[in-house]
Amino acid sequence: MADEAVLLDFGGTLDADGVHWSPRFHAAYRAEGGTLDLAAFDPIFKMSDQALARLPGIAALGFRAAIETQARLLGDILPERDRVNPAAVARRLHADALAVVRRNRPILERLARRYRLGIVSNFTGNLQPCLEELGLARLFAAVSDSAVVGCSKPDPRIFLGTLATLGARPERAWMVGDNFEADIRGAAALGMRTCWLGPPERPLPPGAGDVPTVRIACFVDIERVLA
Ligand SMILES: [Mg+2]
Repeated sequence: MADEAVLLDFGGTLDADGVHWSPRFHAAYRAEGGTLDLAAFDPIFKMSDQALARLPGIAALGFRAAIETQARLLGDILPERDRVNPAAVARRLHADALAVVRRNRPILERLARRYRLGIVSNFTGNLQPCLEELGLARLFAAVSDSAVVGCSKPDPRIFLGTLATLGARPERAWMVGDNFEADIRGAAALGMRTCWLGPPERPLPPGAGDVPTVRIACFVDIERVLA
């Protein structure tokens, strides 16, 4: 029987080919003259992530505004000698992400004609305005933002709730994502087929077993592996 639904992660899956936000922010930070290495930068980035999630009014922030806000929050936390221009960091991040989203949009439009599509994302409560700004909202019949739903991947409830909204069964659905623990292991445990997106050199974590069903290095390959 044909597959019914495809659930997709958002960050790192639809806006970058498996590169997480922290290394993307770090690359933009270095390009603007920042000197911290990724190991030193990453914990500071995670603090900015938490600060963003706590921000009053976060639920209304679109994609560009959220990137600009996080770049500012990051700039406030970085040691003074290690700061760079937050607006310039945000411009780089946004331009790169937008280019990937624009490339992926026609692929998602074709998928939306064959499958019921849903997004399952560990996000900050503003996924819906982000999708609207990016011209993607109309393609998804279910959008689960962890901060809105009240549970995060890999909690089975967020996958099952999204599938229920779509009227689809796990064994007839795919999950596509870049985070092995959250996206792939979580969905595979429910009997979903899984597509892991990431650079080819990224190793499978220990104990992966027969998971994922497939892996791809570029979102453009998604139609080929689902077919
Ligand atoms: Mg992700």
